[in-house]
Amino acid sequence: MERESLDVDILAVGAGVACLSTVIRLLKKFKQNPSAAKEPPKVLILEKGHEVGAHVLSGAIIDTAPLKDLLTSDEFSKLPVKSVVQDESFYFLTNKLHFRLPYVPPPMHSKGLPIVSLGEVTRYLGKLCEGLGAEIYCDFTAVSLLEKDGQIIGVRLGDKGVDKKGNQKPSFEPGMDIMAKAVVLGEGAHGLLTEKLLGDKGMNTSSNPQAYAIGIKEMIELPMTRPNLAGTIIHTFGHPHDYFTYGGGFLYAMTNNLIAIGLVTALDYRKAELRPHELFRAYKRHPLINSFIVGGHAIQYGAKVLPEGGLFSVPQMSIGGAIVVGDSAGLLDALRLKGIHLAIESGIAAGDTLYDCYLANDFTATALAPYQQRMTTKSGWKQMERTKNVRTLFDYGRLPGLMAAGMSSFTGGLLPPGRWTRRPDYQGMRPLHTSTCCCCGTTCAPKEPEKKYSDDKLQMNIETDLYYSGTKHEEDQPCHLVIVDPELCRTKCFSLYGAPCTRFCPAEVYKLPEGEQKIHIEPANCLHCKTCQIKDPLCNIRWQAPEGGGGPNYKDM
Ligand code: SF4
Repeated sequence: MERESLDVDILAVGAGVACLSTVIRLLKKFKQNPSAAKEPPKVLILEKGHEVGAHVLSGAIIDTAPLKDLLTSDEFSKLPVKSVVQDESFYFLTNKLHFRLPYVPPPMHSKGLPIVSLGEVTRYLGKLCEGLGAEIYCDFTAVSLLEKDGQIIGVRLGDKGVDKKGNQKPSFEPGMDIMAKAVVLGEGAHGLLTEKLLGDKGMNTSSNPQAYAIGIKEMIELPMTRPNLAGTIIHTFGHPHDYFTYGGGFLYAMTNNLIAIGLVTALDYRKAELRPHELFRAYKRHPLINSFIVGGHAIQYGAKVLPEGGLFSVPQMSIGGAIVVGDSAGLLDALRLKGIHLAIESGIAAGDTLYDCYLANDFTATALAPYQQRMTTKSGWKQMERTKNVRTLFDYGRLPGLMAAGMSSFTGGLLPPGRWTRRPDYQGMRPLHTSTCCCCGTTCAPKEPEKKYSDDKLQMNIETDLYYSGTKHEEDQPCHLVIVDPELCRTKCFSLYGAPCTRFCPAEVYKLPEGEQKIHIEPANCLHCKTCQIKDPLCNIRWQAPEGGGGPNYKDM
């Protein structure tokens, strides 16, 4: 098949904060030193969503230090900020009670930091990139990396206009090849191209398997008559998670009538019957949380995975012709639940390195290696060094994890010593028990979602929540979710784990109708969170890139 080809100098895959920061840093350096090169590099940013920010979802309280390094004071002052943290608290929750910690652990301090919608921030950064001369192509999905003599030389875009059966429709357009001197991979956690690159090149063989968590979030609109709580934030741990499930919740009052509420659940959880979306509903019913949101109604919903493994799960971050930035490189401080500052720091380090490479016209592995060295000098990286073993210790339960967090905080990361290793998340799931469970003491059997609590305002079922995510896909296209061996579902998964994909997916994409022995897939509902590929206990699900432009349409997340 004949494919068109386009040549650029630098290609960024994913219009998230990390890639946009890379481009801003790189192009600003050429603007500041116009005589350094005959002409600045031609930069292209690819985004699979239908606009910048459409697939972006985060807390989001920004640690502003790296942003001040990236932006001028004028640009920084125009950052779209919802409010500033005024009051913060940290709670341990039981089923009905809450206990406020006497103080907020120092790494969690956020007072004075801006609360933002990350979607708005990325749209703002995208405009800055365009102002500096970069081009942004939305609705395009990169499906594979192009390689020559071990060097990455570009990406291939997905074909458009292919029907469900794989036949070309009249609207068929073959995906273009985009050739670049360097490809910046900032696809978010568990990126399609990134995971393939890391695996094929053995870039993650010396790091721990990444620890992922699924974050589910809603924006709740409150009546204007409620007291103005803008700037109030709370973080919680405990309920609704059991002792062996790492996770926590947050509630950020963004404006006087808008609250962001989210629950993060680690994907190494043991109970096959667990439903992250049900945990989220239980979280919203907790008396403390409910007291903030009662009377309101959800206006947006979304889910994504976060890489929580910490420093020991960070892979080699560059190779000839490619560098990996932000969440794709596992750059997230799990204890602070913050990754935006690390995404910006990695963008700055990547931009500085690409600048040197462009001037030397050398994008080999050796020329790009200083990127990772630069990253290790950043303050966010140093904070990750202090908590390097903490997340792994939570694999053993809440108490060892809290002890590790306390020790690392008091000793600046010297304790716990050494490097604790972990298993991949999918190995954490235990088969369903028919007798008493050894980890929780109860009888484990999948339960149906709690219908008695359902309403259309704060206790929505997944179907209603999906409406608020705005997700949609071209219906007549090949299914982007593949069950590799359907026989394995019947012979092993249903009996051992009771089809957990029907529970862990926050979009109810997988269904097993009563009496049937075949999973039904509704790909149009997919939120692109990647939970299914990470958590399936038999590694039997492959998430592939759907046609560009499909997926959620987050507005203010
Ligand atoms: Fe997430 Fe997979 Fe469900 Fe899509 S199908 S929403 S990627 S779990």
